[in-house]
Amino acid sequence: MGTSKKSMKACVLHNINDLRYEDVPMPEPASGQVLIKIKASGICGSDIQRVFEKGTYHFPTIPGHEFAGEIVDVASDVDSSLIGKKAAVFPLIPCRSCPSCQIGEYAQCSNYDYYGSRRDGGFAEYLAVDQFNLVIVPQEVSYEEAAMCEPTAVAIHALSQADICFGDTIAIFGAGTIGLILAKIARASGASKVILIDIDDRKLEFAKKLGFEHVVNNANGDAISEINKITGNKGSVVTLEGTGVPDVLEQCLKSTAAFGRVVLMGNPLRDMKISQKAYWEILRRQLTLKGTWNSSYNGFVNNWECAVNAMPKLGLKDLITHRYDLSQCNEAFDAMRSHKDLVLKAMFVLK
Ligand SMILES: [Zn+2]
Ligand SMILES: [Zn+2]
Repeated sequence: MGTSKKSMKACVLHNINDLRYEDVPMPEPASGQVLIKIKASGICGSDIQRVFEKGTYHFPTIPGHEFAGEIVDVASDVDSSLIGKKAAVFPLIPCRSCPSCQIGEYAQCSNYDYYGSRRDGGFAEYLAVDQFNLVIVPQEVSYEEAAMCEPTAVAIHALSQADICFGDTIAIFGAGTIGLILAKIARASGASKVILIDIDDRKLEFAKKLGFEHVVNNANGDAISEINKITGNKGSVVTLEGTGVPDVLEQCLKSTAAFGRVVLMGNPLRDMKISQKAYWEILRRQLTLKGTWNSSYNGFVNNWECAVNAMPKLGLKDLITHRYDLSQCNEAFDAMRSHKDLVLKAMFVLK
């Protein structure tokens, strides 16, 4: 290729709270890899923690694990007909030898690598990725939508844990980006009522504009009574806990219908203790509690392929509230951290 002396622009994390827009060497596809010209790269809530609190596994690292772009080059052992195709990228690089990998459940891999945290990711003009990680995107899906493949796959996976049926009522605690994607998928899947619960009125107003009429402000702990009102005192058949707050878990258990399903998705903020009364609800109402983690990505169950194929039906573009150039990386991260304006999905959009 003769690109070894070429350089590209990237946002590089040199230390905690030290993100720099700078020139770095241009990657070249190694054996089994393709080169992606990145067109859109979403900023995830976890990136905020990475940049300001936790750091990446080593420095310097280019963060970014929610991205899509055009395949512009391939290694000599990769099919060149991929060039020109749109692709999203499954960011986890599994070991492919542990027991989980042997059954294709890569999210459970015990020895994985990761684009954008353990190795360089998508806040850059180019990235070389393994062909294994490519999710080919239909032409009618935009790069910006395709960059939301990860949260969409995570949402599809979470809902699949709930055995959702046509006509079910669904309550979603947490109306951020994933909560709203969950709501859109639930609505598209035939949920009779989708109830969104949050403590931030701006998110609920946003949800209303997207056509979700059942929104509940839970700042004063009204979720249970409001859900009962909306569901005719039955409770929601499916409840998604997306906040990681113990009091909310308690509310989830008390507002789910008998024989209902509660999917636990939010990263726990502290010990998730529940009262004796809530525990009784699990028993008496014979609730099913199920955890969800990441997504499935294999030949039988591939939440990523489902995500890109469903995108034309979901209208995810209206979740993008902020678009930035890579050179504005510090502005973008400050906006997301400060919460001054409502930031749902913020992303870098590249020419
Ligand atoms: Zn993410
Ligand atoms: Zn593995």
